[in-house]
Amino acid sequence: MFQVSRDHVIYEMSAQHKPVLTVDPKRQITFETRDALSGQITSAGDRFEALDWTRVNPATGPVYVNGAEPGDVLAVTIARIEIDDVGVTITGKDMGVLGHLLEESSIKIIPIEGDFAVFSESIRLPLNKMVGVIGTAPKDGAIPCGVPDLHGGNMDCKEIKEGATVLLPVNVPGALLALGDLHAVMADGEICVSGLEVAGRVTVTVDVLKQKTLPLPMIVSDTQVMVLASHEDLDEAANMAVVNMVSYLCEVGGFAKAEAAMLLSLAGDVRICQIVDPKKTVRVALDKAYIPER
Ligand code: CA
Ligand code: CA
Repeated sequence: MFQVSRDHVIYEMSAQHKPVLTVDPKRQITFETRDALSGQITSAGDRFEALDWTRVNPATGPVYVNGAEPGDVLAVTIARIEIDDVGVTITGKDMGVLGHLLEESSIKIIPIEGDFAVFSESIRLPLNKMVGVIGTAPKDGAIPCGVPDLHGGNMDCKEIKEGATVLLPVNVPGALLALGDLHAVMADGEICVSGLEVAGRVTVTVDVLKQKTLPLPMIVSDTQVMVLASHEDLDEAANMAVVNMVSYLCEVGGFAKAEAAMLLSLAGDVRICQIVDPKKTVRVALDKAYIPER
């Protein structure tokens, strides 16, 4: 069993980072993760203004996967997500969809009891533990961990959960996988700018699919295939995700374009992951059963 300590964090995905661990494909790795604020807020009385923003959105890693070469696909299966027993949600002026209507920052410390987050005396929310940030190094330059893009990153998609396999591009040798930003609970949209942010541990299995052309990033669950796209403009993100899913259906499933469009129109859900990050993320989901293997 391989483990990466939460002492090893990065704030941007980049080929320049030295790997903190090297593993062979099919190995299991446990990443210890900090919360999205690096644990800087622990009580409702903490001063928001004192936040060190350079320590926001840490990802643990990166991990070098032997044999992963540019043009390959990195398949990361989320085996287990363990979370601490308390999380934090924040919002405030200029944060999230409502930020222009808020004057002050607000902090809510939310205890986690069993399978529920205790939002208030009367509201207990069932957990949907998920990974907010997961990505590989881009070919050139550095992408802050708070930004989602073709390399994955801060997609904040609630389908990145136990049992799901995330497919990411390999842009540099070893792929340089990093992840973090666990949420104990989050809804599609993440409209206040944060989920229920929590530290924890994520156990994954990594594999390398050699020289595969796929519209990445993607998620494969037990029952569905999902294609994700991120863009500053939500309409554009939705259109990109649809176009990518159509090309996937044509290439993998052998559909004609119009047939794929009609199938998606009838059976493919276009859903928002989040609308609050520097780029917004949309996913298109289709049941696997409708995609014939060729
Ligand atoms: Ca996030
Ligand atoms: Ca987050």
